[in-house]
Amino acid sequence: MHELALTREIVSIVRDHARGRGVAGVTLRVGRLSCVQVDALRFALLACVDGTELADCVWTIERVPGRARCEGCAVELDLDQLAVTCPCERQAPLTILSGEELLVSSMEVR
Ligand SMILES: [Zn+2]
Repeated sequence: MHELALTREIVSIVRDHARGRGVAGVTLRVGRLSCVQVDALRFALLACVDGTELADCVWTIERVPGRARCEGCAVELDLDQLAVTCPCERQAPLTILSGEELLVSSMEVR
């Protein structure tokens, strides 16, 4: 499962930054175009930290909207899912501006 591998990476990042301190909360930013299922990610996180020092950490997951710019008409549009060409006449390639990220945006240590 994709989310499980991501979870291990996220937990490892959090542990590295906490350096032995307790962690009250972590905020993650997950782009809508990142193919990550938030429910599965949350489930995997809770399973991964169960019984560890991170067991009572509060995980907040923020969704980042998908945004892209057309290389042909320069219009910017919102994307609900990954697309490679603009719906305009030229069907020019799109450059993704946001929505593909998955990152730890903040954490609160005790
Ligand atoms: Zn276009």
